[in-house]
Amino acid sequence: MQEGKVAARWRAVAREFESVAKAGAHVLAVGKTYPAECVIEAADAGAARFGENYVQEAVEKIERVRALRPDLKLEWRLIGPLQSNKTRVAAQYFDWIESVDRLKIAQRLSEQRPPELGPINVLIEVNVDGEATKSGVAPDELAALAQSVATLPNLTLRGIMVIPAPEGDAAASFARARALFEKLKERYDTVDTLSMGMSADWREALEAGSTEVRIGSAIFGARDYSKKKAV
Ligand SMILES: *Cc1c(COP(=O)(O)O)cnc(C)c1O
Repeated sequence: MQEGKVAARWRAVAREFESVAKAGAHVLAVGKTYPAECVIEAADAGAARFGENYVQEAVEKIERVRALRPDLKLEWRLIGPLQSNKTRVAAQYFDWIESVDRLKIAQRLSEQRPPELGPINVLIEVNVDGEATKSGVAPDELAALAQSVATLPNLTLRGIMVIPAPEGDAAASFARARALFEKLKERYDTVDTLSMGMSADWREALEAGSTEVRIGSAIFGARDYSKKKAV
């Protein structure tokens, strides 16, 4: 890592974000494949919320950040798929799980959340373009899953997360996500988060009503997957 690059990129993104975002929206810094030192550099430049895709990588990183810098109070959010054999550790380490798409996962998180940490915040991932290979509930299954999640004692339903199809019409996907979010918000007081937009399209996503943009490469740099361990 070259000194200062992450901090400079974070500041540039944050500055532009502040000039266009509505109150209540925020940037999630997505650090997958990047080490704890990069997270610390972003945090020292002002980032407070961090997204991770892989539970094992995240746990090691969180532990290392805590060991190196116990003064930092960071929020950690899981944005990658969650398997049922990882729910216990996820419920211990994350403040938010943004990729819930099955009741079984939600039930396990609620059962396994350590009570002293308070409820875990949950977004339901919606497969807004109906892609065959993608995780997330179908739009017409959202209402039923939301209803079940809302009854679980140690979870707080906060909204939805979407990842539009890479080759699709992003504006149409964002608009569909927005409509689903507004409907959910009418029904549940706790719902306030529409997570959509990444490095390439976060400006359009904000325009379409996103309250959380998840930005990785524009802050940390291009990712190198060749060194990543299988998780
Ligand atoms: C990696 C990732 C991001 C960040 O992607 P960039 O294009 O690097 O900004 C956002 N959301 C999810 C779900 C991701 O997996």
